[in-house]
Amino acid sequence: MTAYDDQNIFAKILRGEIPSFKVYEDDDTLCFMDIMPRTDGHCLVIPKTPCRNVLDATDAQLASVMATVKKVANAAKAAFEADGITLQQFNETAGGQEVFHLHFHIHPRHTGVAMRAPGQMGDMDAIKRHAEAIAAALD
Ligand code: AMP
Repeated sequence: MTAYDDQNIFAKILRGEIPSFKVYEDDDTLCFMDIMPRTDGHCLVIPKTPCRNVLDATDAQLASVMATVKKVANAAKAAFEADGITLQQFNETAGGQEVFHLHFHIHPRHTGVAMRAPGQMGDMDAIKRHAEAIAAALD
């Protein structure tokens, strides 16, 4: 398997080298907003320690990330009065992964509303408001 590259964009966010809209963090994980949101409230959960994806993550990394996914997913569902939540997670280029630091996408979903196409930059003011709304709905 290819080695972890600490110059990936999420590693830079973890080091504070580039900005992000933080939703939540604990000792082991960070949640921040996706800047090309495919749904309102689209956010990402990552471990603070390095791994490319599920294939090389330790069980401890996966456990801490999934605990945060559950916590934030419930908050996002409440904040957006969503009908459901879609999780996405991609592994290696052939699996659709573009940023090679493990991450789970959280999407609040409303019945009958499709996800937007990928790769479209979002409105930063709206993304900031959405981060604040999810953070305010956390336990
Ligand atoms: P993937 O690796 O396919 O799960 O996709 C990476 C995701 O990271 C995409 O949804 C991008 O919109 C998102 N992304 C890329 N750069 C940033 C960034 N600087 N801040 C937040 N999200 C980002």
